[in-house]
Amino acid sequence: MKKQRLVILGGGESGVGTALLAKAEGFEVFVSDKGIIKEKYKEVLIHNEIEWENETHTESKILNADLVMKSPGIPDKAPLVKQIREKEIQVVSEIEFASKFTKATLVGITGSNGKTTTASLTHHILKQELEVGLAGNIGDSFAKQVLENNYPNYVLEISSFQLDDIADFKPHIAVITNITPDHLDRYNYEFENYIASKFRIAENQTKEDYLIYDADDPVILDWLEKHSVQSTLLPFSLIKKIENGAYLDKEKIIITIDNNRIDMPTKDLALQGNHNIKNAMAASTVAQLLRIRKQTIRESLENFHGVEHRLENVLKINKVQYINDSKATNVNATYYALESMDAPTVWIVGGQDKGNNYKELYPFVNEKVKAIICLGVDNEKLLENFSTMVDVIIETQFMSEAVKIAYKLAEAGDNVLLSPACASFDLFENYEDRGRQFKDAVRNL
Ligand code: ADP
Repeated sequence: MKKQRLVILGGGESGVGTALLAKAEGFEVFVSDKGIIKEKYKEVLIHNEIEWENETHTESKILNADLVMKSPGIPDKAPLVKQIREKEIQVVSEIEFASKFTKATLVGITGSNGKTTTASLTHHILKQELEVGLAGNIGDSFAKQVLENNYPNYVLEISSFQLDDIADFKPHIAVITNITPDHLDRYNYEFENYIASKFRIAENQTKEDYLIYDADDPVILDWLEKHSVQSTLLPFSLIKKIENGAYLDKEKIIITIDNNRIDMPTKDLALQGNHNIKNAMAASTVAQLLRIRKQTIRESLENFHGVEHRLENVLKINKVQYINDSKATNVNATYYALESMDAPTVWIVGGQDKGNNYKELYPFVNEKVKAIICLGVDNEKLLENFSTMVDVIIETQFMSEAVKIAYKLAEAGDNVLLSPACASFDLFENYEDRGRQFKDAVRNL
């Protein structure tokens, strides 16, 4: 029989992982990347005798595909993708492709914010008692893990871009952490399109499956009112009592699934802040569905170390706590960061604005922020929004300087928070680079 030809667009983590899995499964594989493929990935492709090209797309080698795997970073608008669709060649994402080759129980976690934290926390709990992989936008690609580890369970962090190109992908347990506007440039600037993309995580679920979601999120509730899903709904809430699902009763998380109940005092949670209570609710609901012991769930929530660049406590110097929240690349993430500040805060903010509306931050800025350091190429919008709200607002384009200024302004008992609410690309390589520069600068004080 003639081999099926799989063309992979994008030679990054998901592309190369897919190439390896596809080759092992008997496909004829070709990887094409318009940019430069990283050395480490080139080596893998060469070593495994997989044909590839970079810095170009050779149409004759692409438009003859039976199936195309498109890396999540490549937009639908790309001319080549349009051509592929015109030829009616099926386009799938990595999770769609890889999930065909595993019988594992899949937990899929999506949302605008909190995916990595919730996926990491869920994995941390499950791995105490189950063989479980963590994949998706984290670490090694799902495809590569299906090939090499073949775990019976996976926790997958899933972006909307991965969901855009699914066909049959069906997690047994789906989580939607929240939905706020993000990445709208990829969705024709229609929030509705982005919401629909997130909900595709549930589109193939049946009544044996579960959908866990934030029942305090108006966008999610509104969508659920207008559309039907087959799976069993397990909401979580900070403000209302939930019969089947999770809620907050005074200072305790209560999770009930089919009359089976677990309680957990919030003061014992390793990750603090209201957003992290929600993340803990989602992760523990998954764990309970997969029959992890209650004691294990409680202990895991107490000893989880958190994820780098997400409200990460860096150091305390002269009784000032320095906090790295570089991953806060939108207003909603920064909202929760400021909300969780329990002391006067010197706030380092700014970067590449994504059409931010800062209004929802005003109450926290008024209440908690004593000084603002704007760290971006263009700080106009920050100055417009916040100049009248704080006594001190200073601009800089250097992380080391931002941290030195913060050091001078902060007094014993204060916090210094890097929570930019913006993308990092104007001054940094990416948010990790920004966070590391912050931590280095703090350590050098
Ligand atoms: P994602 O993977 O979805 O980008 P992360 O877990 O990396 O999410 O967190 C991104 C940012 O959002 C961090 O600044 C983090 O503190 C904040 N955050 C984490 N969980 C939530 C949540 N449930 N709601 C809102 N913001 C959150």
